[in-house]
Amino acid sequence: MIFTDTHSHIYSEEFAQDRTEMMQRAFEAGVKRIFVPSIDSTYTEKMYEIEKQYPENVFLMMGLHPTYVKENYEEELAFVEQELAKRKFYAIGEIGIDLFWDKTFLEQQKIAFRRQIQLAKKYKLPINIHCRDAFDEVFEVLETEKGNDLFGIFHCFTGTYEQALQAISYNLKLGIGGVATFKNGKIDQFLNEIDIKNIVLETDSPYLAPVPFRGKRNESSYTKLVAEKLATIYNLPLEEIAKITTENSKAIFSI
Ligand SMILES: [Zn+2]
Repeated sequence: MIFTDTHSHIYSEEFAQDRTEMMQRAFEAGVKRIFVPSIDSTYTEKMYEIEKQYPENVFLMMGLHPTYVKENYEEELAFVEQELAKRKFYAIGEIGIDLFWDKTFLEQQKIAFRRQIQLAKKYKLPINIHCRDAFDEVFEVLETEKGNDLFGIFHCFTGTYEQALQAISYNLKLGIGGVATFKNGKIDQFLNEIDIKNIVLETDSPYLAPVPFRGKRNESSYTKLVAEKLATIYNLPLEEIAKITTENSKAIFSI
């Protein structure tokens, strides 16, 4: 059984002490494919280092995270462009809009989001969207950029049934993680009405650990716990969940 974690910050400081063991636990749990979103230029070297250690299992994205869109965002976007021109990435991400922490740079966040979508189109890559307290703003940008050349994953999807359908209408799959296991997570209540061909698994580790580890550090091995929850929601064997969601991830990332 092979699981695909489509969103894991394995380079995080949180794993500085035990990254090797953390990766080993993931492999033992069957999580053999780990897609790694970028945050900003300060993490890139660490990402390359880990990729070198696990070339069969680790697949990198490049992009500027919305909460890191600040005064210097033009420089950061130039860095993203420079790295994209240099080597292979599997997606542009994570990109999007986040109004939970700070609304100061909303306009810049929109510009950065749009510009990175256009980069994804240029390189024929999927996008990995981060959206927090910003569904209207994210959809507003997607509405003007939609088309056959736009595709990817709506990471950490936590919206309503209607918002799920809207995301899917833009050729996006829904990244489902720990929130699906939360009592107040809500998405578990309608997920079975969404065709599983639109679902991919993720952890967003080290954040958003699934039950029974809620509130603790998350890690890629917990992808299996999310898959178990989906097995219950869809009333399918775990093997089927692993197979279908991994196939879905291959359709997105072309690997
Ligand atoms: Zn993330």
